Amino acid sequence: MSRIAYVNGHYVPHSRAAVHIEDRGYQFADGVYEVIGVQGGKPVDAGPHMDRLERSLAQLSMAPPMGRPALAHVMAEMVRRNRLRDGILYLQVTRGVAPRNHAFPAGAKPALVMTARAASGPPRDLVEKGCAVITVPDIRWKRCDIKTVSLLANVMAKQQAREAGAFEAIQVDDDGMVTEGSAANVWILTAEDVLVTRPADSAILNGITRCAVLDLAAKAGLAVEERRFSVAEMTAAKEVFLTGTTAFVLPVTEIDGSPVGGGAPGAFTRRLLADYEAYAASGGVA
Ligand code: PMP
Repeated sequence: MSRIAYVNGHYVPHSRAAVHIEDRGYQFADGVYEVIGVQGGKPVDAGPHMDRLERSLAQLSMAPPMGRPALAHVMAEMVRRNRLRDGILYLQVTRGVAPRNHAFPAGAKPALVMTARAASGPPRDLVEKGCAVITVPDIRWKRCDIKTVSLLANVMAKQQAREAGAFEAIQVDDDGMVTEGSAANVWILTAEDVLVTRPADSAILNGITRCAVLDLAAKAGLAVEERRFSVAEMTAAKEVFLTGTTAFVLPVTEIDGSPVGGGAPGAFTRRLLADYEAYAASGGVA
């Protein structure tokens, strides 16, 4: 079956989907996006993703392309037309098409594109064995809380990881503190069995998976602290894992060539993954 994309009001074959060369997303990375998991034909955590999209748009003084019910309708249509059961929806809003000029154009209409892709969570071998990561300097701008399509530093970091034979690059700020992965949030388990993840400041994207796992950990009665942690603390941690829409809860078992804890996924990570899988299968927060 051929894939269908949504482009500014039209459902078109994916292979022929296109936007104008003066779309400001193409010219300036002047746009925002969301990646939403789909399980059993239903979006996972649709509500929180819509909340974050609206926040990203507001932070950039960009108008939503349509209201929430209409957006939910397009999402459902994309799932239906692509016969998607398990996978992801990619949704991108840009400031629209206008002659190239840095300042906001008057009267440009926000552009919306959406694609759908089948997928079934992170690769099984990575889940079972854990993944290797490298640490890299965080060279991004100061508003990483906005989910903008301007991802060049993340692209460079991920490529560096790939060339080093690692799955992910963990970015480190100028104070030696961990910010986040190129496409996932980072967690550690301390020697005292406290889960730690960086607070949702402007140096990281506040992951929807991160928020879900914070709730699941609290429900499971686990001790959690939202505070910054250094590379040294991460390297010495009992467990390290990543969270994200495509990563779910992914164990990290090697950092810069050295094993984490026992070198195998830990019990807390496996517990949270199981809890998250059940949560996602239930659809999360509508
Ligand atoms: N940080 C960054 C930089 C990301 O790109 C992502 C994935 N979009 C995340 C964190 C995790 O966010 P979420 O759980 O909403 O997928």
